[in-house]
Amino acid sequence: MTRRVRTRIAPSPTGFLHLGTARTALFSWAFARHHGGDFILRIEDTDVARSTQEAVDQIIAAMQWLELDYDEGPFYQMKRLDRYREVIAKMLAEGSAYRCYCTPEELDAMREAQRARGEKPRYDGRWRPESGKKLPEVPQHVPAVIRFRNPVDGDVTWNDMVKGPITISNRELDDLIISRPDGTPTYNFCVVVDDWDMQISHVIRGDDHVNNTPRQINILRALGADLPEYGHVPMILGPDGDKLSKRHGAVSVMQYEESGYLPEAMINYLARLGWSHGDDELFGREQLVAWFDGHHLARSPAQWDAAKLNWVNAHVMKGMPDEALARGVVRQFALRGVGLSADERLQRMCAVFKDRCATLAELADWLGMYFVDVKPRDEDVAAHVTAAVRPALQSLRDRLAAIDWDKGTIAAAMKETLATHGLKMPQLAPALRVLVCGRAQTPSIDAVLELFPRDMVLSRLQDV
Ligand code: GLU
Repeated sequence: MTRRVRTRIAPSPTGFLHLGTARTALFSWAFARHHGGDFILRIEDTDVARSTQEAVDQIIAAMQWLELDYDEGPFYQMKRLDRYREVIAKMLAEGSAYRCYCTPEELDAMREAQRARGEKPRYDGRWRPESGKKLPEVPQHVPAVIRFRNPVDGDVTWNDMVKGPITISNRELDDLIISRPDGTPTYNFCVVVDDWDMQISHVIRGDDHVNNTPRQINILRALGADLPEYGHVPMILGPDGDKLSKRHGAVSVMQYEESGYLPEAMINYLARLGWSHGDDELFGREQLVAWFDGHHLARSPAQWDAAKLNWVNAHVMKGMPDEALARGVVRQFALRGVGLSADERLQRMCAVFKDRCATLAELADWLGMYFVDVKPRDEDVAAHVTAAVRPALQSLRDRLAAIDWDKGTIAAAMKETLATHGLKMPQLAPALRVLVCGRAQTPSIDAVLELFPRDMVLSRLQDV
């Protein structure tokens, strides 16, 4: 590869960062990092009516959360309008663009006539300058649009990094509007000027943009620009085979943060949606960068699989230091309005419960027993806190009030209680769990109890 690798992600700030865009960002980032190149963030905010600063902030927050660090940007298209106008002026001067004065009514009539003749509706080139052609008289009071003078013959061909060779005939493409009547440049045009100015070497994006690519290539050629390579990644599908959308659950990256997923897990999972490295399923960021050379991108769409994401997340959680888990749990409790600190006790709680959880939110659900009131379900109380067990619970409570508060001594007090009352652990432990922890199953009860303040345990056993 001779050209310096420069990739970009170019979200439109009309909403949060969608999982599909995050995956494209990840691929673009990993590809740039693999080649020691640059990754650029560009905000495509020319849809002024729908773009918001809040969306920009959210996009940047999501990129930071995923640690997709960019080397340049964010660049904003709305700050580059002068540059687009400059390029348009140059194209007009050189003849690769021209003014078109068709009114909307004329265009409608044109399309209707084409349909009536059984033709595909397209701009008929009536304002396109040709040598020897007499153009219509410029009408009064009709603001002009500016159209790109697309080649009429030949094909546009590119070797897509994902889909392989793609060829589109120029006859399929009409003369695209690059500047609207009010002088604002259009989307396809801005992308071209940006990719050119930013010296983008590889455009990796969703395959909903395949139809734009031949138009963009033609404009780049007219400008004498080097062409980037293109890679169009198939959409992510929901479990029902439709394009992944809100209907299928959360599609905003930051909702996953709030739901207790870890950035390392998201990176790992998203990378595998549409890319593979042999049979490898679990890998870290550095490994991904080392492997991601632009090959093995899948041609067919990947399906979102929430269970698999949970599996990856659980794996990442298992490998995390308890201190980091505790920090994640603090964040989860903060979202629930409970203020905690990631102290040593919280870290020990994480160590005891983490194997049971796929997300930090689940871990916080478990640890709720230590920080908020528990409300055992009536059926659990009825099933486990039976008349036979109640006296034993009372005497255990008395013992617990007087012993050293550590796991070993708590276990010994339970054994003594069982012996005194002629009970077995599977009778006592579930009853204790229901009353103290609010659920009949937990990790080893002595380890769980040890982490409670003694008074909390005693008060939850008070009314047996
Ligand atoms: N702004 C476009 C989008 O959000 C991206 C265009 C591109 O990558 O070329 O879909």
